[in-house]
Amino acid sequence: MGGAKIIIQMKKRLIVFLLAIFAIPMVLRAQEPKMTEDWSRKPPVIQSGKRMKAPSDAIILFKKGKDINNWTNRAGDPAGWKTSCRKMTTSRSGDIITRQEFGDCQIHIEWRSPRKVVGDGQGRGNSGIYFQTLYEVQILDSYENETYYNGQAGAIYKQSSPLVNASRKPGKWQYYDIIFRAPRFNEDASLKSPAIVTVFHNGVIIQDHFELKGPSVYGGYPKYSPHLEKKPLLLQDHGNPVQFRNIWIREL
Ligand code: MG
Repeated sequence: MGGAKIIIQMKKRLIVFLLAIFAIPMVLRAQEPKMTEDWSRKPPVIQSGKRMKAPSDAIILFKKGKDINNWTNRAGDPAGWKTSCRKMTTSRSGDIITRQEFGDCQIHIEWRSPRKVVGDGQGRGNSGIYFQTLYEVQILDSYENETYYNGQAGAIYKQSSPLVNASRKPGKWQYYDIIFRAPRFNEDASLKSPAIVTVFHNGVIIQDHFELKGPSVYGGYPKYSPHLEKKPLLLQDHGNPVQFRNIWIREL
């Protein structure tokens, strides 16, 4: 091998070595979940009003035990959540999705975290409403329960903290009214317009026309990928026994 070739070989090895030293740790650091936690502004705690009944033109997603048939697990098999009377409860059987698919919509959903407090931070009454199975409005017991603010109840998970903390005590029913605008994509797969979410928590606005940066991700930064105009709504089973009742939706 000539001297020039040896020098080229050595240069190549040096580049690989430098990549390993600098680039890989940088990529790993960017994926570190703590990097996207926002602790900059604590949403003020407020009190809230009474719940809302379904209007006449709403699609009922859950009102009675049998309405669990409007939902399946992610594989399309019957939802494994427990139902009793007029509520359903997560059961460590995994997330559930609606049989029907939705784009732009208004949704009302009532939920409560366990009266007996178990765990803290993200491990306390955690669930979530994922629009189009991708964009999460966080459900969490955020009553005197500190966590990163863009991960507390009513956060657009890891993207936007709620304007205020309207959380009720553990075991009390709470509700969200949400207006969701689905993202649109161009034919070349680029983003035409982002998903937009407005959220009321117990009647109080906590997200005001927020433009999502992409799907909710735990580590790393959100990034849009094109998808169908309509997709199911998903409720998260995070392993905490969260209950739901009176869920209705209106297509926009
Ligand atoms: Mg969640």
